[in-house]
Amino acid sequence: ATPTALMVGTGRGAKMGILIKNGEVLETVNDIQTVVFDKTGTITVGEPKVTDIVGADKQVLKVAAALEESSEHPLATAIMTVAKEQKLAFEHATDFQAIEGQGVAATVAGQQAFVGNEKLRHNYEMSAKLQAEMTRLQDEAKTVVLVGLNQKVIGLIAIQDAPKSTSKEAMAALKSRGLKTVMLTGDNQRVAQAIANEVGIDQVIADVLPQDKAEQIKQLQAQGKVAFVGDGINDAPALSTADVGIAMGSGTDIAIDSGGIVLVKNDLRDVDRALALSKKTFGRIK
Ligand code: ADP
Ligand code: MG
Repeated sequence: ATPTALMVGTGRGAKMGILIKNGEVLETVNDIQTVVFDKTGTITVGEPKVTDIVGADKQVLKVAAALEESSEHPLATAIMTVAKEQKLAFEHATDFQAIEGQGVAATVAGQQAFVGNEKLRHNYEMSAKLQAEMTRLQDEAKTVVLVGLNQKVIGLIAIQDAPKSTSKEAMAALKSRGLKTVMLTGDNQRVAQAIANEVGIDQVIADVLPQDKAEQIKQLQAQGKVAFVGDGINDAPALSTADVGIAMGSGTDIAIDSGGIVLVKNDLRDVDRALALSKKTFGRIK
């Protein structure tokens, strides 16, 4: 493509709310074979809401609030919203510890406690009934956090983050181009698969710790050029590792800086529009 064609291409993108950092990025888009998506805030709206509490509601929520009060995770925000709505009085935890990709642990009224996924459960006891409830809720595409107190899981909190209304159409468009779609998430396999089924994604890579996201991109690159679409601080290494990093405009500054393309409208259908633009700009010289 001539420099003029490049300018026209990136200019057209800008008008559609697709910011392309340079012509080289636009060219690489043409060769992409796999598009990998972060889940929370990228495929989903990113506003998780509590839907179910299993166990003695008040007690479960009080312990959870004592821990999540000090966390900035979106799941913590969802839990604190309910605790505030119910005007619950709760203890303030001490020895607070945030464990990436797992949850939070602390001391509440002199007892050890945690809120998080199964990786944090360690030797806390959990009833068969709670195990079954957890699986049921996960199959409904809900993220389930366990609430543990004094070596026992006392309850569950289910949190739902719905897919954006445009995600399904976006995946279908990419598929009709013959591209493979992949979801890469720190969330549980069951939940991730349930959401993937809803929007139509080919492959799910779940339970991935933030520091391992970039490594997963490298493995997918063995099968061809990879684009990664994400929004979080956690996503920055994967955005830089991918052949094309695509950041959501609503994302954190570090994600936006790490991406070669920014989707200002936060609409995943713009991934397909960027592909069309690249084809138009570079298609003929191939
Ligand atoms: P994602 O890749 O979806 O952004 P994260 O790596 O941030 O996910 O978190 C992965 C999982 O770790 C969550 O689904 C949850 O089970 C657990 N987790 C992380 N932080 C918290 C928290 N503050 N409270 C409860 N659970 C948490
Ligand atoms: Mg995210």
